[in-house]
Amino acid sequence: MANTTAFHVAIDGPVAAGKGTVSRLVADRLGFLYVDTGAMYRAAACLAIEKKIDLTDEAAVSILLKTATIEMRNPLESERDGRLTTVIVNGTDMSWKIRTEAISAGSSKVAAHAKVREILVQKQQEIARDQNVVMEGRDITYRVLPEAQLKIFLTGSDVIRATRRHLQLLTRGEDVSYEEVLAGIKQRDEQDTHRTTDPLKRVPEAWEIDTSELSIEQVVEMIVSRVCVMRS
Ligand code: C5P
Repeated sequence: MANTTAFHVAIDGPVAAGKGTVSRLVADRLGFLYVDTGAMYRAAACLAIEKKIDLTDEAAVSILLKTATIEMRNPLESERDGRLTTVIVNGTDMSWKIRTEAISAGSSKVAAHAKVREILVQKQQEIARDQNVVMEGRDITYRVLPEAQLKIFLTGSDVIRATRRHLQLLTRGEDVSYEEVLAGIKQRDEQDTHRTTDPLKRVPEAWEIDTSELSIEQVVEMIVSRVCVMRS
């Protein structure tokens, strides 16, 4: 996947470790494309729920995805409302719709299907072809971009991650308790780590960064510096 012109930064990690915010800022600093692969699994769940398809029905969800268009781009000037990325599904802007707790839970269910992963991994690899990217998800370091020049496993304590996610959801007006958020994070991590196809794992060569005691700016600086050294 990697070639002499494209530089790939692959970031994996559990729920709410800061992957999105960090990746967006690193990509902006480096002038790379930011790719949020979780948004694709979220879009799949959202579409299936809208069409009243059972999320455990692998064949039905896959057929739906094969005919769907999922477009992701940097937010336009007019879309700068706090989103990290703009996600257009079948022509409709779903950037915020895919961020609810219900869709979070659904995305983890559809992500367990091998066929769904096959379709989305292919889309992700096409996006990265010949482009400098910062791509984040659960299987980027070993499945989507196994030849990425820089592999990172971003993590953080359960409590810190739940606190961050809770604050994010409250800011968006979702009425949810801290306990519910913590339970949701634990359940999603459990599902993502124990599924049969491409579970979340840290590959030995990945640089592990625990974000619990670090500010976003510190993490971004560490990654940008390392990329600059690697490319010099
Ligand atoms: O990263 P985010 O929390 O938005 O991802 C939503 C869900 O999509 C995750 O809980 C995981 O189940 C799934 N996912 C995945 N592989 C990826 C990205 C996300 O399985 N590369």
